[in-house]
Amino acid sequence: MELSLRLEAVMEGVLVTGTATAGLEGECVRCLEPISEPTEVALQELFVYDDSDIEDDDEEGVFRLDGDLLDLEPLLRDGIVLSLPFQPLCRDDCPGLCIECGARLADDPGHQHEEPIDPRWAGLAALVEESDGPSDRSATGEAGPRGPEPKRSE
Ligand SMILES: [Zn+2]
Ligand SMILES: [Zn+2]
Repeated sequence: MELSLRLEAVMEGVLVTGTATAGLEGECVRCLEPISEPTEVALQELFVYDDSDIEDDDEEGVFRLDGDLLDLEPLLRDGIVLSLPFQPLCRDDCPGLCIECGARLADDPGHQHEEPIDPRWAGLAALVEESDGPSDRSATGEAGPRGPEPKRSE
């Protein structure tokens, strides 16, 4: 993580402005591709002096100086968490994974499984379906590699 901060002494405390750059690791919610991208977070927060008499009502969310020390961790954590994308994507239009075989469609845009039936064979396919009858399609045998497994007889 890289920090580029400017500290400014003001009346109530120290005003911190700057940016934090952090490398984020995640995975694409669609294709599970690992994502690693730097995220830059703009920070601006006032750290009030420890002894300043800020009302208790305002205590929530107030950053305090711990003596002369700035505890930047909560500030950074909040800033970075807020900057995280809710659903990270490797790219905005990620096509995701093939529901058949899990191949990453972004790598293989033309990927598909159902071979369109060659028009020359379409008539024949219709004949086969007719002769077998629509009620028992598993008996055709040629269901392809993903077809139902033939029943095992013992
Ligand atoms: Zn993706
Ligand atoms: Zn596939």
